[in-house]
Amino acid sequence: MSESNHPEQPSRILIVDDEKTLRLVLRRTLEKQGYSILEAANGKDALQICAEQSVDMVLLDAMMPGMDGFTCCTKLHEMQLQDVPPVLMVTVLEDSKSVDLAFEVGATDYVTKPIHWPVLRQRVRRLLQQRWMMQEIHRKMETEQALIAQLEAANRELQRLATVDGLTEIANRRRFNDYLNWAWQHLAREGSFLSIVLCDVDFFKQYNDTYGHQTGDACLHQVAEVLTQVAKRSTDLVARYGGEEFALILLNTNLEGAIYLAEQVRDQVKKLAIPHAKSKIAPVVTLSCGVASVIPQPDFSEDLLLSVADDSLYEAKMQGRDRVVSNTRTLADILEEKQIRGTIEGDR
Ligand code: GH3
Ligand code: MG
Ligand code: MG
Repeated sequence: MSESNHPEQPSRILIVDDEKTLRLVLRRTLEKQGYSILEAANGKDALQICAEQSVDMVLLDAMMPGMDGFTCCTKLHEMQLQDVPPVLMVTVLEDSKSVDLAFEVGATDYVTKPIHWPVLRQRVRRLLQQRWMMQEIHRKMETEQALIAQLEAANRELQRLATVDGLTEIANRRRFNDYLNWAWQHLAREGSFLSIVLCDVDFFKQYNDTYGHQTGDACLHQVAEVLTQVAKRSTDLVARYGGEEFALILLNTNLEGAIYLAEQVRDQVKKLAIPHAKSKIAPVVTLSCGVASVIPQPDFSEDLLLSVADDSLYEAKMQGRDRVVSNTRTLADILEEKQIRGTIEGDR
């Protein structure tokens, strides 16, 4: 193992010096320490080696004919290598100007000529150790970043799963509740209409009994697709409300608009012409829809709107199914009605 303490291959040191004899002495000394040596007699060759090969450190003579060490060091940093090796500049003794300049052009450290061998050995060792430690830190950071990215993706998927219905891939009941609550507050501030459409597949128990649960699941999937195609605004929410019940939350949409969409859903589901031999009202799968619409008030809860839509759906079933029933009551009517009902129930 080399003195750099690098666990795998020996570190590769590039010696750049115009003096052949000095290169040779440097090579012998450093090879004895276990390093692998590359040589260049001038700055141009040194840059080429750095561009083409992996170099762990450059031992660079400051004074060379043609391109001097300072220019060479500047150019090395300008090459935009992925990983610039540290440069140990070899300057002339007591030459403080050269030392300053060496750091200015990006050298990591320097040694003076004539070379003091124990100093050179220590500096080379320290520089390589520092480089190796930096590489380790980068590797660890990259691994951590990859782990964080994986964790974030898993979190996003978890969040999606928590809000999406597994069978139909539309929003689930939890997402429906959250969105309705948010929409209620939002439109109360805006003073604008919020509508709900509740849709329930007619005679679905008989459908399952006739065609089997799997075919039943496929049918629910098709109904969900119709709802998704009809409610196209970015603020619309299509959700699975329960087993074979679906819901639309429609923002800034009055009763008329909501009825129009509900009719479209009912019509398009019927046009799918999914056979339903045991239905008592049609040979195909049909939907009953209840619609409700109010301008929300912050003092009351969205459950009010939901219960009105539920009443409408019940009415649709009572009136014979395969239809849309709406409730034209205002929030004031609903509240008054509930108060009266409460009083009657209280009297009992
Ligand atoms: P109505 O016209 O009054 O709505 O009658 P219905 O039979 O549709 O209503 P009911 O509430 O009696 O039955 C609903 C059926 O929906 C019973 C249940 O097995 C079925 N169901 C609920 N969830 C699922 C599901 O995820 N997949 C399948 N295949 N069937 C489901
Ligand atoms: Mg039902
Ligand atoms: Mg049903």
